[in-house]
Amino acid sequence: MRYLVKETFGPTLQGEGAHAGRPCVFLRFAVCNLACTWCDTDFRPEGARRMEADEIVAELARLDVHGARMVVVTGGEPTLHWDAPLADALREAGFRTHMESNGTRPLRAPVDWLTFSPKPRFHGEKDEIVFERADECKLVVDETIGDADLARWGGGQFGELFLQPCMDERYREHLARTLDLVARHPRWRLSLQLHKILGVP
Ligand code: SF4
Repeated sequence: MRYLVKETFGPTLQGEGAHAGRPCVFLRFAVCNLACTWCDTDFRPEGARRMEADEIVAELARLDVHGARMVVVTGGEPTLHWDAPLADALREAGFRTHMESNGTRPLRAPVDWLTFSPKPRFHGEKDEIVFERADECKLVVDETIGDADLARWGGGQFGELFLQPCMDERYREHLARTLDLVARHPRWRLSLQLHKILGVP
């Protein structure tokens, strides 16, 4: 028993970024190396299950009742768990793997779509960014995000660029800041958390 799985669920929709609206299933690992104050995910190890790769694949295949064969791999921080045996097992079962990571740990096995979501103000001493490329960069906009952050992450190596307002109690303020940033930096696009707006898991 190897992987610490917090939950699997589906069928549902990817709610964020370039693939928003696509049907998929989710694989959520437990544990994160960061502790963002506005984190909206329960990644505590309590209640998580230790599962083998073939058990994870079988469970995701059961959930994928419409045959979308797309799995969003998230956490917590999924790079703490992701490895070649699980990547191979999912690929052999026909799944495309889409991962969201904070970019502070190396990706030890390939994925089909990599979302880099940096949270530098929450980094500890050992939490340097190690990603050098991604398919998309998704920056969660709170009161601290500004022009300098867009310049830092918008150089091109991180693919498609998204700004997503943080949906905490100051959402309206964060949305206004996001719209202003998008208007002034048109290479960045607005991303909304569709699943929350629509009320899907
Ligand atoms: S990196 Fe993501 S999962 Fe980890 S604490 Fe921050 S928002 Fe939550």
